[in-house]
Amino acid sequence: MSHAAVSPVLVIHGGAGVIKRDMTPAKEKAVRAAMTLALQNGYAQLKAGKPALDAVTAAITVLEDDPNFNAGKGAVFTHDGKNELDAAIMDGNTLGAGSVADVHRVKNPILLARAVMEHSPHVMLAGEGAEEFAKEQGITLVDPSYFRTEERWQQLQKALKEDAAKQPHADVDTAKHFGTVGAVALDAEGHLAAGTSTGGMTDKRWGRIGDSPIIGAGTYANSGCAVSGTGWGEYYIRTVAAHEICMMVTQMRVPLKRAAAQVINEEIPSMGGNGGAIALDADGHIAIPFNTDGMYRGWIGADGVPHVAIYGDEDDGIAEPPAPADSTAQP
Ligand code: ASP
Repeated sequence: MSHAAVSPVLVIHGGAGVIKRDMTPAKEKAVRAAMTLALQNGYAQLKAGKPALDAVTAAITVLEDDPNFNAGKGAVFTHDGKNELDAAIMDGNTLGAGSVADVHRVKNPILLARAVMEHSPHVMLAGEGAEEFAKEQGITLVDPSYFRTEERWQQLQKALKEDAAKQPHADVDTAKHFGTVGAVALDAEGHLAAGTSTGGMTDKRWGRIGDSPIIGAGTYANSGCAVSGTGWGEYYIRTVAAHEICMMVTQMRVPLKRAAAQVINEEIPSMGGNGGAIALDADGHIAIPFNTDGMYRGWIGADGVPHVAIYGDEDDGIAEPPAPADSTAQP
């Protein structure tokens, strides 16, 4: 594939767990500001001719540092009141990948995932070993209390009460607190990358690991397609969602929007799951399917203007995809 004169594109998400009644004007403002900053920082990398991986890393670290998202600071709590973080990154150009699971002290798990890809012989490191490796790599470690926010703590208390009353998790099971963050980027060389970072799901137990750090499930990139998911991770793992979308695009030549909609809005809900995803192809086409009330989402392309949307009925400006350099028809 030749991608001379590709216009760089960056797409991000901050989770598909938006519920309108939980939003306040202040929260909405803070979320939009963080999404805008993530787009600007990531896009600055692309404009400077840096690889897609740098844009993905720059955007995700902004969202990990912001307490409004379920990644890094502000991560959800496990059943026993801890924060256990997962993250992954993949380079579509080389198929290099790195991921970390169940880390408790790594300030920016996406940076550790990238270090696993670039400086270890492995793809996935978990728990204490991952943190030992972080120390060796000079990656910032923090006290576990750094990740705590009162809002996430209260979400856990609600879930624990529901557990005690043997009630279904009104908020967790209906996806109301999916706040995982992710980014996909296309650089000026025509190379794609994808990354995802999360605290997982509120009240998760027994060392549960979700889809985000599993290459192919919540995160995947190859030479023609990059995907980052957010939603009920067990379903993304069972459908190998991100890989499935990319195989449809690159092997079966299904247009990106159709492939992403089929997996996210048909296959996953038909099994009982829910959520969303961001997807990008090598021609700069964007797809952002989701089946929840809303999804924190944004993109930035040739005109350098950050586009951010939250609610399902809000125009995110991609109904008409930005004119790609090589404009193949997308239904
Ligand atoms: N997919 C994440 C997980 O299951 C949750 C989320 O998207 O917020 O761990």
